[in-house]
Amino acid sequence: MQYSKTPPAKAIFLDKDGTLVKDVPYNVDPALVTFESGVFEGLGALQEEGFKLVIISNQSGLALQKFSLSKLHELIDHFNFIFEQNGLALSGFYYCPHAPSEGSETCTCRKPQPGLLFQAAENLNIDLARSWMIGDILNDAEAGNRAGCRSILINNGNETEWLKGPFREPDYTTPFFLDAASHIIANENTIAHA
Ligand SMILES: [Mg+2]
Ligand SMILES: [Zn+2]
Repeated sequence: MQYSKTPPAKAIFLDKDGTLVKDVPYNVDPALVTFESGVFEGLGALQEEGFKLVIISNQSGLALQKFSLSKLHELIDHFNFIFEQNGLALSGFYYCPHAPSEGSETCTCRKPQPGLLFQAAENLNIDLARSWMIGDILNDAEAGNRAGCRSILINNGNETEWLKGPFREPDYTTPFFLDAASHIIANENTIAHA
């Protein structure tokens, strides 16, 4: 008989605003949260496939004092509740509380930096190479790619700058969340960044 550590899980890292829900700037009011179409169905299929579901969100509204930490946590409770209502388990909600910085004073957790993904991977025992990041702007793709995941851009018009860079090429682009989920399920056993 031998002891073995639980093998690492694979995860889907999810941007919140503009990806899971309609983007309402600095919103923490559950009443104003509207999920995008295909999200519950897509997440259900991914969960069925064995992926953990983890939200990765920039919440600069904290640093900018647009809302309080307790209001943000009420929103997180709401997300847990809605996920549960739809048969989904939300394994984590990681957020960067910092403001966008100028010059050299930058945190390591605000996307496009991959800090939150590394933190989640450590806390939740996630294999980054078998994981994917889904977001609606190239900063999300960059954070995923920098963490060693694959990335999908939901191209719904929210990315407007299209800045180029070494980590800013998504593995797949689609306007539909459900199509993103199908792509992951069809391609998860191919090699990342071959
Ligand atoms: Mg977004
Ligand atoms: Zn940060």
